[in-house]
Amino acid sequence: REPVLRVRDLTVTYHGIDSPITAVRGVDLDIMPGEVVALVGESGSGKSSTAHAVVGLLPPGSRMTGSIRVDGVEMSTLSQARLCDIRGRVIGFVPQDPSLSLDPTKRVGDQVAEVLRIHDATSQRAARSRAVDLLEAAGLPDPAVRAKQYPHELSGGMRQRVLIAAALACRPALVIADEPTSALDVTVQAQILDSLDQLTRDMGTAVLLVTHDLGVAADRARRVVVMSTGRIVEHGTPQTVLRSPAHSYTQRLIASIPTLGTAMARGRPEPREATPLLVAHRLVKEYRHPGRSGRRRSRFRAVDDVSFTIGKGETFAIVGESGSGKSTTARLI
Ligand code: ATP
Ligand code: MG
Repeated sequence: REPVLRVRDLTVTYHGIDSPITAVRGVDLDIMPGEVVALVGESGSGKSSTAHAVVGLLPPGSRMTGSIRVDGVEMSTLSQARLCDIRGRVIGFVPQDPSLSLDPTKRVGDQVAEVLRIHDATSQRAARSRAVDLLEAAGLPDPAVRAKQYPHELSGGMRQRVLIAAALACRPALVIADEPTSALDVTVQAQILDSLDQLTRDMGTAVLLVTHDLGVAADRARRVVVMSTGRIVEHGTPQTVLRSPAHSYTQRLIASIPTLGTAMARGRPEPREATPLLVAHRLVKEYRHPGRSGRRRSRFRAVDDVSFTIGKGETFAIVGESGSGKSTTARLI
């Protein structure tokens, strides 16, 4: 069988301020149809640069050499129009930052429908209804109502689900997911990765999962590829790479995983002076859900009667699952 993605001797170089920065140095990578491969490595190791090269989204002024074949087609020989067509139809991309990737002026359902309309000639009506199905499959709660909302009305986890729906809209052969859950809390992270697993398994989609989380990599991928300073330093099954890492870099990466146990043992120093700096008293924030023809249909309490005090110099943690109101509380104060 042909790999769905075949990368050979890939290098990516950016314009630095005074000298060029080589972010990727001679990367080789094969992904077979339906295979899930995790690309791991510390910040700045070149994971996103590799992903962007594959989806053809490197910024202007950057330089790429080497070969990228998708479904047997050499990407560098393609015209811009063919490249656009392949992106979305053959490769789906879930970007690292959901807030930068959605159009703030368009309803999220329409943004998913648009992907369908670009690549499949379907009616607006059919695309809209299929978009709601896709949002539901991606695990967005209340998809018919949420589809009519704008990105800023959704939580980060919900926006990430919208991007997964958009990336999978045209049943691509390969999905590149760049840290699809790194901005999210652990519970919703697992749910979103479950949705991604389910969708890609149903469609037989191969996945390149970029993550700096070795736990996620071991849990989700059949093969783990480790990058350091632009190079692949190690690859293999999660068992071999994580149980007996050959490379010192991988060993350090594994040692750096914080666990709840070590965090609790370490604790935090008490602040020297616990005078209250901020007193939040009975905070409430309501959002409106869209209704038909602009009429108000329902209100939703994102923050409901929240009180707390933060002392001077104190570190205060707000934890909770996705959509529980953490970010809204932070914005309120
Ligand atoms: P992270 O885990 O933080 O997302 P990463 O492994 O995805 O990191 P890249 O974003 O690929 O890392 O960055 C690799 C190197 O390329 C870094 O040194 C970074 O500063 C540099 N780089 C990335 N994008 C650009 C750009 N547009 N212009 C200049 N340098 C860049
Ligand atoms: Mg990155």
